[in-house]
Amino acid sequence: MSIYTGPVFDMARQQFHIIADHINMPEDQRDRLLYPKRAIAVSCPIHRDDGTTAVFQGYRVQHHLSLGPTKGGTRFSSSVDVGEVAALAIWMSWKCALAGLPYGGAKGGVTVDPTELSLRELEGLSRRYMQEMIPFVGPHTDVMAPDMGTNEQVMAWFMDTYSMYQGKTVTEIVTGKPVASGGTVGRREATGRGVVHLAMRAAETIGLTPKTAIVQGFGNVGSVSAAELAARGVKVTGVSDHTACYFDPRGLPVEALIRHVAAKRVLAGFSQEALADPASLLTRECDILVPAALERVIDAATAGDLKCRILAEAANGPTTPDADVVLAQRQEIFVVPDILCNAGGVVVSYFEWVQDLQQFFWQEDEVNARLKQILDRAFGQVTARAKRDEVGQRTAAMAIGVEKVYAAKQVRGLFP
Ligand code: NAD
Repeated sequence: MSIYTGPVFDMARQQFHIIADHINMPEDQRDRLLYPKRAIAVSCPIHRDDGTTAVFQGYRVQHHLSLGPTKGGTRFSSSVDVGEVAALAIWMSWKCALAGLPYGGAKGGVTVDPTELSLRELEGLSRRYMQEMIPFVGPHTDVMAPDMGTNEQVMAWFMDTYSMYQGKTVTEIVTGKPVASGGTVGRREATGRGVVHLAMRAAETIGLTPKTAIVQGFGNVGSVSAAELAARGVKVTGVSDHTACYFDPRGLPVEALIRHVAAKRVLAGFSQEALADPASLLTRECDILVPAALERVIDAATAGDLKCRILAEAANGPTTPDADVVLAQRQEIFVVPDILCNAGGVVVSYFEWVQDLQQFFWQEDEVNARLKQILDRAFGQVTARAKRDEVGQRTAAMAIGVEKVYAAKQVRGLFP
């Protein structure tokens, strides 16, 4: 029995055992690799605007400390529980190892629908969550970043709260901060930029000039991915968020959609004519499909119906292991797996942490060039490994990540 339950954790565990089998990891080593080092659960009380008090449950899971501090986002969403957070922390570990970053994986979250909070309430909750986490995090222990439902502003509140308790400014405690408070140029765009860079590498690999793309989720990652695709001349024919779904075979006006979301926070209300059924968005024909919202949106049935050539997994865990079995039979679809596809975010978070520690800041072209260098190296390693082992890109990517963590644990040994 463990505290880690639920469909997202089950999926992370199932994927891990596929990899452990693939690399012949001894049975007795597996739990040491899979189960998180520690999990923290906190209650976060805040004053509501109406004068009442509300309490929200928060979590932080630190997966392993074998390669350095832990690193990972903080999610504010009503789906958050300790199992989901643990799964996301585990995926972060394989992702950081694949990219060659000196981190273990972590993730945190609060069970809350942030759209139901006023800005003042959101600030109160953000500050209280960070305050509760102070004994467990630190620039060399565990470094937070944004994820679903949090953003640069939340990171600035986290950094300010931590700093107030230290009596000095500690910018390196979180990444994904605004540039005005120690953030790096290029971090906000990094995940989406990386997604599109890798989707284009995939296109090159299969000899495709992509003309159309569909993006599910229009938050930080989805909107930047859409903008990057449009900037490269790829028509974005479909987009969705939790409030609306639009499809137009002639292409949607991405810049106008972004302006609409900046003003209204959601896609709803943008257009009547282009309204479409969200249930069929993922299975419409397109060259590049970018799921950039939730986990487990592509199950076996959806995988069988996909009509894309490249599946660029911007979200964490969008494809279930059952769907992977179907995709293995569909060689015409090139999968860029999540731990590779969305790694741009943590790579530039790493750059931000390094810049903050050194108080020496880089230009945007330097950030982007180094980002590409790391992503290209990882892409090359994954495609070579997939070919060598005759497996899909996900198995190849995860095998590289898991092996690196395993090797670090083996050489360090087991304390005491
Ligand atoms: P965000 O909160 O900025 O945006 C999430 C988007 O998903 C919103 O547009 C929301 O409306 C939409 N959404 C929610 N439920 C939906 C549904 N049922 N159907 C369609 N859309 C829905 O979050 P984000 O930071 O863009 O993260 C999106 C995904 O990318 C998550 O899986 C996250 O873990 C992953 N990710 C984010 C980063 C990052 O740097 N922010 C890095 C790596 C991976």
